[in-house]
Amino acid sequence: MPLNDQDIRALTYLAGRCRPTGAPRWDDAGIAAAIAKVRHLHLADVALSVIRAADDAKAQTPGVIANTSAPNWQERGTRPVAHEPFDPTTACDVCSLPAHRHTNNSGHEFVSVADATRTRTVRPKTRLPRTKETQP
Ligand SMILES: [Zn+2]
Repeated sequence: MPLNDQDIRALTYLAGRCRPTGAPRWDDAGIAAAIAKVRHLHLADVALSVIRAADDAKAQTPGVIANTSAPNWQERGTRPVAHEPFDPTTACDVCSLPAHRHTNNSGHEFVSVADATRTRTVRPKTRLPRTKETQP
């Protein structure tokens, strides 16, 4: 279940409350922005990740919440992945994943199909000489 605005507000509040004493404070706007970047993911996974990240005294900024390859995301629930139909307006030209599922671990920069199509240059093949032209 993706997050709605109320979920984000609730988790923002909890993250602020969970910051350890002496750790750098996180501002609510930054926390909410980081959570919004992963709002398409499952609420339980995001909630656990937010709490784990907020409890990490070494985390300087709430940016780790949006980084799904960070340690706070290592434990995640196992649930079937919902089928997402291929959408050329949001898909990556390299791996076909939608933009929101692209992570730092994808191994390449996200390139939208639309951008790739626009910049792709298809040179026409050189014409082969006809038999009549090759004979003297
Ligand atoms: Zn890709």
